[in-house]
Amino acid sequence: CLATCLMATSFLSTINHFHMAATVALPGDDVFTLDIVSKIHTDHGSTAKASSDFGHIVEAIPNGVFHPTSPADITALIRLSISQSKPFTVAPRGQGHSARGQALAPGGIVIDMRSMGHGDYGNHVSMSPNELWVDVGGEQLWIDVLHATLKHGLAPRIWTDYLRITVGGTLSNAGIGGQAFRHGPQISNVHELDVVTGMGEMVTCSPDKNQDLFFAALGGLGQFGVITRARIALEPAPKRVLWVRIAYSDVELFTSDQELLISKRSSGSGFDYIEGQVQMNRTLTEGRRSSSFFSASELDQIAELALQTGSSAIYYIEGAMYYNDDTATFSVNQKLERLLEELSFAPGLAFVRDVSYVDFLDRVGREEQKLRSAGVWDVPHPWLNLFVPRSRILDFDAGVFKGILKDAKPVGLILMYPMNKDRWDDRMTAATPDEDVFYAVGLLRSAVAAGDLERLERENAAVLEFCDREGIGCKQYLPHHASPDGWRRHFAEKWGSVAALKRKYDPRAILSPGQGIFPAAG
Ligand code: FAD
Repeated sequence: CLATCLMATSFLSTINHFHMAATVALPGDDVFTLDIVSKIHTDHGSTAKASSDFGHIVEAIPNGVFHPTSPADITALIRLSISQSKPFTVAPRGQGHSARGQALAPGGIVIDMRSMGHGDYGNHVSMSPNELWVDVGGEQLWIDVLHATLKHGLAPRIWTDYLRITVGGTLSNAGIGGQAFRHGPQISNVHELDVVTGMGEMVTCSPDKNQDLFFAALGGLGQFGVITRARIALEPAPKRVLWVRIAYSDVELFTSDQELLISKRSSGSGFDYIEGQVQMNRTLTEGRRSSSFFSASELDQIAELALQTGSSAIYYIEGAMYYNDDTATFSVNQKLERLLEELSFAPGLAFVRDVSYVDFLDRVGREEQKLRSAGVWDVPHPWLNLFVPRSRILDFDAGVFKGILKDAKPVGLILMYPMNKDRWDDRMTAATPDEDVFYAVGLLRSAVAAGDLERLERENAAVLEFCDREGIGCKQYLPHHASPDGWRRHFAEKWGSVAALKRKYDPRAILSPGQGIFPAAG
């Protein structure tokens, strides 16, 4: 506490010193005249809220929380930091939905990006005149982007499963979801960014202008600057969706059907969205008796499949087919029927829902409400997300789902779906396996009872150890590495340029220290 208090005192005197200095305008440099000090809150309530995240695994107290109302405020804060002989760290925080402290700033300043939504700087969500793209503030929630663009009959092309997270937060990772096989991740669907760098400079960048910063920031884990605006590609929004789940007991049939489906990316004869899930046996027998998709009797049918086949896991493909209005129902149903005939799921185990586009995209929002009312939303989430090369996905299945996790307690969700690498731009910072097709595997598990967290962490460690030992060639998504060597291996051949771009755009290493990639300033 003494150390923290001393740090806080010296930090506050820094702020007070700056406050006096801030009354003096520097020629040609208006940001220095902004009053940013009153926007830094150091009270316990503010710092406590910014000390943890969705993961509830790590905690770190910042010295203050900054509430900017414009990008210029962020520029001023960063300049304040780097004007010090010992700069303070700065972490933009969107919704704080990271799992391992990535948006925390121990002893530094957390920028509450959502405060920008209350300001009046002008480009929170604004459509292009030709309606091909939308400009959105980095602080915006995807759910708000959806509603704003739908007013024009348009929508972004690729969505994360959950929409109450920010544009800046997902673009700093990749933003993956069931449309990525066709359109790539969200970071492949951005035309331009405004970024406040770690040098305190506001830079507009795109594939044609300041391109090194553009590609660095996309998937850049907050290391090179704060994204304050993104120009996002749009498409005409469908009105309705046939939402489909088909079950398999045989992993080879499951993966070959998934790969067939993602190969139909431009033919228009397949799904518009493809994901998949793994249901371990104990989930089927001991898990929830209904879900936001399945009824209890449908879950019984799926459990019966496991029983009959003796399979320790059941897999299902989740697909979505977009269509526009009731008159198109007949033809979309025919298209679905034709597609299902090509697939090898367990006979009779195809389940179809006809829902609005918004209800489909916001499905996890409904799940959140349920989990909140059951008191199991704000619990530890030791999530592990991996990209697994296609050539090793069956080995991964055998070692992990039929090995390490075979008898695991059912506590959450396991996702598994393939994507096409050619929809990713390798100039971006995001790291992916070196194969044409790779799977996103998400072990999205929650610790709800005593002892769960330790057990889940042990299982995660065993999965990572298995991947290393067997040379599976996994990359972590939403990565967390405890050692510099882990980060070097994560970025592999990109490491040299990641380090050089860090030196160029954040040479004092003040940004997003919670990622733990570079030794933090201070
Ligand atoms: P934060 O946790 O606040 O920040 C994440 C990182 O980005 C931090 O390092 C932070 O400093 C930095 N950062 C934040 N804002 C900015 C900015 N404006 N500029 C630069 N850096 C910034 N991800 C997927 O890809 N697909 C999914 O389907 C998906 N589903 C999810 C479902 C749930 C229920 C949850 C909780 C998460 C899911 N995620 C998914 C993960 C999610 O994309 C990431 O956790 C993302 O970082 C969350 O956004 P956030 O606004 O909470 O970011």
